Amino acid sequence: MDLLFHILDQSQWDQARAAGVYEPESLTAEGFIHLSTADQVPGTANRRYAGGTDLVVLAIDADAVTPEIRFEDLYDHGAEFPHLYGPLATSAVHHVVPLEAGEEATFTFSFPHEGGDVEALATDYPSARSSFLDAAVGAGATVESFGHPRRGLNDEELFVDVARLGPDEADVCVLVVAATHGVEGYAGSALQTHWLTEHAQQRPDNAAVFLVHAFNPFGFSWVRRVNEDNVDLNRNFIDWDEPLPTNAAYMQIASALVPADWSTESQQRSLADLLTVAGDWGLERMQTAVSSGQYAHPTGVFYGGDGPVWSHRWLRSWASDHLSGARDLAVLDLHTGLGAWGACQLIGHDRVGTAGHARAGDWWGPVVAMGGENSVSASLTGDWLGVVQELAASARTTRVALEFGTVDAVTVLQALRADAWLHAHGDPLGDDAAAIRAQVRAAFADDDPRWIRSCWPHFARAMTATFAKIGR
Ligand SMILES: [Zn+2]
Repeated sequence: MDLLFHILDQSQWDQARAAGVYEPESLTAEGFIHLSTADQVPGTANRRYAGGTDLVVLAIDADAVTPEIRFEDLYDHGAEFPHLYGPLATSAVHHVVPLEAGEEATFTFSFPHEGGDVEALATDYPSARSSFLDAAVGAGATVESFGHPRRGLNDEELFVDVARLGPDEADVCVLVVAATHGVEGYAGSALQTHWLTEHAQQRPDNAAVFLVHAFNPFGFSWVRRVNEDNVDLNRNFIDWDEPLPTNAAYMQIASALVPADWSTESQQRSLADLLTVAGDWGLERMQTAVSSGQYAHPTGVFYGGDGPVWSHRWLRSWASDHLSGARDLAVLDLHTGLGAWGACQLIGHDRVGTAGHARAGDWWGPVVAMGGENSVSASLTGDWLGVVQELAASARTTRVALEFGTVDAVTVLQALRADAWLHAHGDPLGDDAAAIRAQVRAAFADDDPRWIRSCWPHFARAMTATFAKIGR
C-alpha cells in the first residue's frame, strides 16, 4: 500500500469525517488537494502551518482514492509534490495521527510515526506477560501478582500483575489498565511495556503509577473479549442489589446472533437476518440492542453475568488496599476494536455538563460521553469506570477509556459471534477453534507493526497530559 499524507485542522477532519468526504478550499481555488510524501510532511508543516495547533496528518491509501493523483512541481519548489485532482473520500484515509510541534515550535514527522520502536504485539499471553514483567523490573517498579483460579489456553497459569512506580505514601495516583476485554490486552500490554521501557522516567516524583496487566487474563490468554464465564467485564459492574437491566431488543435477535450451528450456510442466513433487522431498526438501535449489555443469555454476546465475577471482585479488593487513601486519581482504561484503524477515540463515563467530563476534556482532548451527548440518565451498562469513585472514595477522580480502532464494526461483530458460538456450541480446543481465535485476534489487534506504532502517540500523549495535570 502506498501512503500519501495531508495536514489539516482536527476540526476540519471532524467535519469531513461526518460528511464522508473532504473538500478543502484548494479544491475550488486550485483544482486539487495538496498531498505530501512522508518525507515532505515536516517541510510542508513548517512552511505552511508554523505556529499551528490542533493539527493532524491524514495517512491516505493512494490505491483507495478514485480521482487522479499527479506528482508535479507547480511552484518551483524544486521537488514534485503529489496533488489529488478531486474530493477525498474519508474511507480512503488509512489512519490519522496528531502533528505536534517540538523544540522551538518546529514540526517533525516520521513514518511509521513516533512509535517507530514500539515492539510488535506478543503472540500469546505468556510472552506478553514476561515482556511486561521484564520491563517493569527494568523500570524499577514493584510488581504484585494475583493468581487467577483458571488456566490459560496452553494450560499456563494466569495472573493479574500490577506494576507500581512511585513513593509508598503517594496520594496522587495514576491507574492504567489493560485487557478489561481480554484479547484487547495484546495492544494494551504492548503500550504499557513500551512506556515502562522508554518513558517511565516521565512520572512526576509525587505520583504513584499502577499498571494493571491483564485485568481479564483468561480472555487475554484464550483470545476472547469476555472472561471465563463468557461475561463482558464492562457490563458486570452494575448494582447487583437492583433488578437486572432488561434488553428486550436483544431477546428478539439472540438466536440469530449466536445460532447453534456455525456452518457457512447458517452464518450467511443469520447474518442476512441480522442485516434485515438492522434495516428495520436503524443501525443505532441495532447497535444498542447488541452491545449495550444483556443479562438473560449466558451464552450470548455482551453478557453481563449473574453476579460480580472474579476480576470484578479482585478489583474491589485491590482498590481497597491501594486506592482508599488516594486524593487525586486518574484512570486510563485501554481498549481496541472501535473507530478508525490506529486512531484513538476517548470515551468518558461522566455525563456532559459534569465537572468530571469537563476535566477529562481539559486533560485529554475531546471526550465522547458514554450513552450519547445528551444522555440524561447514567447508562446502566456496567462499565467498571462507573465505579471508580466507589473504589477511591476520598479522591478526585478523572477517568477515560482509550479506544484504538482496528476494523469495521460488522467485522468485529462477526468475530464475536463466531467466538460466542465456539464456546457455547463448538469445541474451544477442536478443529474450528484456531481459525476463530485468529479471527477474534484480527478484529482487536492488527499484527501489522504500523498499527501499534500508530496507536502509541495517542497513548503517549494521554500519559504526558495526565502527568501535567494530576495533583494540581
Ligand atoms: Zn474494550
